[in-house]
Amino acid sequence: MRTYIFGPVPSRRLGISLGVDLTPTKTCSFDCLYCQLDRTRFHTSERSRFCPPVDVLQELREVLNEVAAPDWITFSGTGEPTLHVDLGLILSELKKFSPSPVCVITNSSLLYREDVREELMNADRLLPTLTTVNEATFRKIHRPTSDIRLSMILDGLRKMAENFKGIIEIEIFVCPGINDSDEEILGLSEFIKSLKNISSIYLNTAVRVPVEDEVITADHVRLQEFRDKLDLKIPVITAFERKTIPARPSKWNRATAEADILKLLLRHPCNEEQLAQVLDSDKARVALLLVELSRQGKVKLQANGEWKLIES
Ligand code: SF4
Repeated sequence: MRTYIFGPVPSRRLGISLGVDLTPTKTCSFDCLYCQLDRTRFHTSERSRFCPPVDVLQELREVLNEVAAPDWITFSGTGEPTLHVDLGLILSELKKFSPSPVCVITNSSLLYREDVREELMNADRLLPTLTTVNEATFRKIHRPTSDIRLSMILDGLRKMAENFKGIIEIEIFVCPGINDSDEEILGLSEFIKSLKNISSIYLNTAVRVPVEDEVITADHVRLQEFRDKLDLKIPVITAFERKTIPARPSKWNRATAEADILKLLLRHPCNEEQLAQVLDSDKARVALLLVELSRQGKVKLQANGEWKLIES
């Protein structure tokens, strides 16, 4: 029974990614309008030992012995990973036995802290979020805890980029009508140009159903316009430019498949094709299982064709 590890999951940016979830469900310093999971349940910027590092590392050892080496081991899941006070310890211990490089997806909220920046040096790749350089827009989109200011994040991101030796790919989540005016884009462009060592930018949008209806999806054209206006020399990839996800071998076992699907959908809504790839099964078999789980009230199909877990 896995508690902290999920997947491997197909990821647009990371290929086959083995996920590590260090926080209880929806424990986050933000409560983003666009979150695909749910409203934040535990809204906090206080770091804590949500789970024993020794247990996480033990589970990682076991899972890595069972599955083919993933393209990335990714710390993300259902909350903000830098809130775990032992993130640095877990990363440095994992690096001793991991066959795969390690990535951390962060909302950037704690990058102002020197200890967090130091701990993240153990990762190979960082995917920090930056949606705006305007405080009011920042508060509207992310609904942060009251102690977090955008200026702290900008400063932290600058310091992180100065010293990090791996890959940094900034994610800009485009919310049409909120952070895509010419002024907003120019501000982002100037700030990003002032940073060192940024490898690329990922322009994301609400390709999955967001928590708030007011967030609309930027279409392909709008993301391309956003990219043009950013006018950056580094690569800017949009959410619609998907990579081909390679299949990984595994054996079909109904009970295991059901458990894997439920764990995966808790963190990562997927369509049938993605689930079939992860489980190395044909789509029809996965579709049947999803219909059965839907009848049991465990999962539901969303308008965009992705399945999501129904939390009890
Ligand atoms: S999108 Fe990420 S940062 Fe925002 S509320 Fe959801 S989990 Fe937190």
